Amino acid sequence: MKYPVVAASIIAAHVAALVLVPDLGMAISYTFFFSVTGLAMVGVAVAWRRSGTPRDRRWWLLLASLALWAVGMSLSARQNYVLENSNPAPGDSMFFYILYVLPVLVSVSSAPVAARKKWAMAIDLVLASLLGVLFYIRTFSIVSLEGAVGTQAAVDVAYMLDFENSCLAVAALLRYLATDRADDHFYFRGVSAFFVTYALSGYFYNHYVALGGHPEFGTSPWDVLLDVPFLALFLATTTRMPQRYWHAPVYLVRFVQSASPTFLAMSVLGFGLMVIPGYPVLGIGAAIAAVIGIGLRGTLAQVDLVEEEFRLVRSRDELQGLVFVDSLTGLANRRALDERLLHEWHRPGQQAPIALLMIDVDHFKEFNDRFGHLAGDECLRTIASALLRRGLRAGDFIARFGGEEFAVVAPGTNLPDAVALAEELRHEIQSLSIVHPFSPVGVVTISVGVAAANASSESGPLDLLNAADRALYRAKQAGRNRVGSQEDGRMNTVRLDGSRYIG
Ligand code: GH3
Ligand code: MG
Ligand code: MG
Repeated sequence: MKYPVVAASIIAAHVAALVLVPDLGMAISYTFFFSVTGLAMVGVAVAWRRSGTPRDRRWWLLLASLALWAVGMSLSARQNYVLENSNPAPGDSMFFYILYVLPVLVSVSSAPVAARKKWAMAIDLVLASLLGVLFYIRTFSIVSLEGAVGTQAAVDVAYMLDFENSCLAVAALLRYLATDRADDHFYFRGVSAFFVTYALSGYFYNHYVALGGHPEFGTSPWDVLLDVPFLALFLATTTRMPQRYWHAPVYLVRFVQSASPTFLAMSVLGFGLMVIPGYPVLGIGAAIAAVIGIGLRGTLAQVDLVEEEFRLVRSRDELQGLVFVDSLTGLANRRALDERLLHEWHRPGQQAPIALLMIDVDHFKEFNDRFGHLAGDECLRTIASALLRRGLRAGDFIARFGGEEFAVVAPGTNLPDAVALAEELRHEIQSLSIVHPFSPVGVVTISVGVAAANASSESGPLDLLNAADRALYRAKQAGRNRVGSQEDGRMNTVRLDGSRYIG
């Protein structure tokens, strides 16, 4: 609560001093104006420090605006005290009172997500410089260095200031209300606090005090109106992080975020049009530059979007790839197997039978128990690459089914060919000669269950899986390290041609 009390006391002291010591009115008002500007600058520095990591550098732009305002005030004091010019609108200070909005305007126009920051900043810099020139031309087309000549010029200056301040107040308010980011919310809360109060108090002061018979500072207690925006900024920056009670609709947030880069160019367009009557070449040139600026900024944003979309698609594809890969062996996983089986089953015009081989490592639990799980993993990887190396013909598909089980889908393969393939694989693994003390043959072996079926509407891939699983079970029952086939369910543990096949 102490800061609002400080602000209220400053206002009360300013009024009291003006009322009690009217002879020193001008000095009193200047002192207060410089003090509240200083106070606001301190507040901005505090806000910058509190803006998180990395610090929000937009606060520096606001600080620069306040510094430019202080320059305008100093020039005005110089006119009053050094040059003894009592005109309320001398051109040099007026120029700075207009120019001071430039840094803030750049921050209000900044796109919240600008990947291509350098280009965007270069465009903004060109537009901002152009706007500075336009401000200068516009100011001195209304007033001279000594000040406004006649009431009409003074009124014109007042309207120009009103226009500028209200545009900024509206832009800052929009960005304050339509944001989904905490840093934006805090920053634009400060900028809005300043410009909304500045637009209002500036309007009343210029039209009803300065133009209402009190052209000089210190001649009316209403001078205190000019303290208000600075104190409002001071309060907005030093109070606790604001709580949000209202969240703008997402569409509005996106709209304002997308439109904000055009604020600066719009200002160039507006002021360009204003100076066309006096300076047609400059005015038209500025308007053209503004249109090009808007176009370029929009194009840059578009490029960013396209790139972002490309990046997203790529990472989505990568993720999708990972979803179907078994991380231990690098083979396709169970999910991929299911999809492939389904795909093959429903392939249009599928006539030939689809074969499925279910492979299970024999006595693998003992292998793990004897050598540890890491050695077990290594063994699974070796088996996986051996299967891959040996087993695959074009169109075949191999996957880790789970645990120490693998599966091969072989489309267009009849049962005898599938059994032959299974036998090759069994032989291949045995000939890897991975030592296994608990295996009857002393090395790691596999058992394979084979089934083949024609895709039909009466059965599904699950039937094929079941048949292969049953065949595998029988191979295990028959003593392991052999191939079992679905054929007629008969056990056959006799070796055929030196192979182990049950059919
Ligand atoms: P069987 O000959 O009847 O197939 O016997 P088995 O020991 O191979 O079969 P069981 O199903 O009893 O055990 C399978 C073992 O495979 C149990 C588990 O420790 C091991 N295993 C399963 N997945 C992995 C894995 O990813 N890494 C390792 N190292 N071991 C695994
Ligand atoms: Mg198993
Ligand atoms: Mg096993």
